[in-house]
Amino acid sequence: MKPVAFDYAPAETLAGALAALAAPGAKPLSGGQSLAPTMNLRLVRPATLVDVKPLPGLRDALETPTGLRLGAAITHAEIEDGAVPDVTCGFLAHVARGIAYRAVRNRGTIGGSLCHADPAADWPSCMAALNATMIVAGQGGERRIPAREWMRAPFVTALAAGEILLAVEIPRLPPGSRWGYAKINRKVGEFAKALGVALPGVLLAGAIEGPPALLGSLDDLPPGLDAQHRQLAAVAVTRAAAMRDAA
Ligand SMILES: Cc1cc2nc3c(=O)[nH]c(=O)nc-3n(C[C@H](O)[C@H](O)[C@H](O)COP(=O)(O)OP(=O)(O)OC[C@H]3O[C@@H](n4cnc5c(N)ncnc54)[C@H](O)[C@@H]3O)c2cc1C
Repeated sequence: MKPVAFDYAPAETLAGALAALAAPGAKPLSGGQSLAPTMNLRLVRPATLVDVKPLPGLRDALETPTGLRLGAAITHAEIEDGAVPDVTCGFLAHVARGIAYRAVRNRGTIGGSLCHADPAADWPSCMAALNATMIVAGQGGERRIPAREWMRAPFVTALAAGEILLAVEIPRLPPGSRWGYAKINRKVGEFAKALGVALPGVLLAGAIEGPPALLGSLDDLPPGLDAQHRQLAAVAVTRAAAMRDAA
């Protein structure tokens, strides 16, 4: 199928983009890798696509004293290729490498993925595990949203109508940190059936039925996990331990 007719409006300024998004039927566009398929299926029928990629700062990746400010329009491929400063001891690049295939990673962005909020996607769970912070802008100015409060439900975020995700602030992991990442899927590069993240002090598992769930600390598996979460947790912790032992 083809999408219904729509207008394309590349953003030049933040104020202009926010004004354009206030119009009925307007929707932000980043890499189009999730939006275009849903438009082709006519699940969404935006009147205007406001391309947010050209906005100042959305393509910047800046190292800060506490970590990294990653512009929302940075692509998965740029993270995979190490084109952004590494503040997570290789964790972000590893995750990016496992998303879809290269053509999707060349266009798909971290901001688009976080705003699409598919619970089977990689970044929403990883940003929650890293305790990242979303920086969003609306008509009323900027606000900060902790990644752990970002996903309200599958495909539903804390972003208000007309707001734009500008950047993600990712805290620096202590030097030499070990981490584990386990993604269960039928084929390499597919969306996860379930995934597990182990980082210093954090153990997280997400599954396609719901938003990411923080499950506890690396030191001990929390009680009451179901069998799938227990398996994921065990795989993620084993991988983190293997990295530690190999170092
Ligand atoms: C074949 C295939 C396989 C895939 N496999 C995986 C996978 O294994 N793991 C995974 O994580 N993902 C996977 N994806 C999804 C991919 O990662 C997309 O890049 C991502 O979901 C959307 O990013 P995008 O930049 O293309 O966003 P778009 O498609 O442009 O936008 C997605 C949504 O976010 C909104 N939006 C975009 N940017 C902003 C912004 N800055 N502010 C506010 N709202 C915004 C849009 O309006 C839209 O609703 C796959 C996609 C395909 C096509």
